[in-house]
Amino acid sequence: METKTHSTSLVQVCQNCKKKFIIEAEDFSFYGKIKIPPPTFCPDCRFQRRLLFRNNRVFYKRECALCKKPIIGLYNKDRPYIVYCYDCWFSDKWDVMNYGRDYDFSVPFFTQFQALQKAVPRANLYRDNFVLSDYCNYGLDFKECYLLFGGKGNERVSFGNQVVDSRDSLDIAFSEKIEFSYENFECMRTNKLFFSRYSQDCIDSSYLIDCRNCLNCFGCVGLVNKQYYIFNEQYSKEEYQNVLKEINQGSFKSHIENLKKVNELKLKIPHRYARIYKSVNSDGDDLSETRNTHMSFSSRQTEDAKYLFYIRSHAKDCYDTSFQGWNSELVYEIAHGFGGSNIAFGMRNIFNQDARYSEECRDSSNIFGCEGLRKKSYCILNKQYTKEQYEELLPKIIKHMNDMPYIDQNGRIYKYGEFFPSELSPFAYNETIAQEYFPLTKEEALEQGYKWEDGENRNYKVDIENKDIPDHIKDVEEDIVNKVIACEHSGKCKDQCTEAFKIIPEEFKFYKRMTLPLPRLCPNCRHYQRINSRNPMKLWDRACMCDKERHFHEKDKCVVEFKTTYAPDRPEIVYCEKCYQQEIY
Ligand SMILES: [Zn+2]
Ligand SMILES: [Zn+2]
Ligand SMILES: [Zn+2]
Ligand SMILES: [Zn+2]
Ligand SMILES: [Zn+2]
Repeated sequence: METKTHSTSLVQVCQNCKKKFIIEAEDFSFYGKIKIPPPTFCPDCRFQRRLLFRNNRVFYKRECALCKKPIIGLYNKDRPYIVYCYDCWFSDKWDVMNYGRDYDFSVPFFTQFQALQKAVPRANLYRDNFVLSDYCNYGLDFKECYLLFGGKGNERVSFGNQVVDSRDSLDIAFSEKIEFSYENFECMRTNKLFFSRYSQDCIDSSYLIDCRNCLNCFGCVGLVNKQYYIFNEQYSKEEYQNVLKEINQGSFKSHIENLKKVNELKLKIPHRYARIYKSVNSDGDDLSETRNTHMSFSSRQTEDAKYLFYIRSHAKDCYDTSFQGWNSELVYEIAHGFGGSNIAFGMRNIFNQDARYSEECRDSSNIFGCEGLRKKSYCILNKQYTKEQYEELLPKIIKHMNDMPYIDQNGRIYKYGEFFPSELSPFAYNETIAQEYFPLTKEEALEQGYKWEDGENRNYKVDIENKDIPDHIKDVEEDIVNKVIACEHSGKCKDQCTEAFKIIPEEFKFYKRMTLPLPRLCPNCRHYQRINSRNPMKLWDRACMCDKERHFHEKDKCVVEFKTTYAPDRPEIVYCEKCYQQEIY
């Protein structure tokens, strides 16, 4: 199908939120290249819709529908899906092509795909090469990990998400090459780094924000190549060691004080407008090695791309894609997957080519509306066609999707060129990571036509009340392991809170060895706290706030403008890259 090219931008009204959004001339050339009509949802609503198809961490007990072994999986028993254990799903005890069906020109495409989703068995979790890592999901090569969601190449990492090539660490998110560290968010190459954010190449340090190449630093913001600094002040080695002794590490009370102090310091130190490294013509945040990449976040090695989130290891010509990468090219509206080329509208597309509207398919090409395929070509709704038949049928289906669109209960119209309607997500809104980035109350979610899961009434018998956790780790005895501890947020209307948690043996040893206080929150609340500490994934047009005379600005103040995740009413001092470099380095 032909997409008209526009030489100018076009203002559209979003079908979902009814707000205006702009489709730029460059966007039309991308839509032309991938031969898909321009979107009718705004970028934020498209992002939210994709996130609705990813349940990282809400698990249910059920049994494998084939071998009947008890399993944990992502699907509530009430949902109309057939769930196999991972071994059965990958075995040849069943044939995914047996579920193939003719395309029915009297029923909208999405209704037919929904029926296929309910018929084809799905794996309980998404995992490749996991060793002793049962309670983990969306990962590759995990060993002895626990409650770790997303990432690859991790050993003994627990309570984290989106972690790559790390080991022996707890409570890590969006980080890479982390060792013996705790509570790191968006950090890289750290060793014994605790309670820190946006820091790289830091060792034996705590409470760092946006520091690089620091050793023995405590409570510092924006430092580079420093040693023996406490709250951004230089000490001698002996002084440093003495002050640190007084700080009473291992006490939860002093931990809270330290956090407060470093957050106060953060308001006095300039921040770079965005953390964009080794990149050309790119905007967003937490980007490196990107070219012509716009409105994108937490991504590496991307080119000619827009609206990305968490893309790794090379992607070119990609729009509206999250949790993807690995040498992918010409990708549009993929919720998560690996690699591939000319793929659009999919969940778990793994190294496919020329694919549209498919879920959990791998190493396949020329597939449309397929579920669970491996190494297949020329299939529609899991039915095998010849190349000629496929090429003849496909344009008719696309025309049918436009002539008989799917209309959801809120009146949103889904033609060819739209991602899957939210009803096709196997998950309730609050089971998915949409709730992390676009939080809704139950009422709001239901009103907007999303499913909601009330969760089990847990009624844990609490062994230790939150206030009774010893303040200092030195006073915690080993018998605390596996006791039920009340979460600090318990009963405080935090939807994600599991009310109570346990300390596992490895975790206990880690806190003792590193002299860290026991956490007061359940793993879910800790996770949400980390996610909420990041700036929103939105960009504002602002100007540099620097008025330093010694910078030789052309006027009395720097006039450089940029796109930043710091909203104009935020209290931080925000500088352009040049002024930031002059101040910090
Ligand atoms: Zn919208
Ligand atoms: Zn099984
Ligand atoms: Zn909690
Ligand atoms: Zn400036
Ligand atoms: Zn300046």
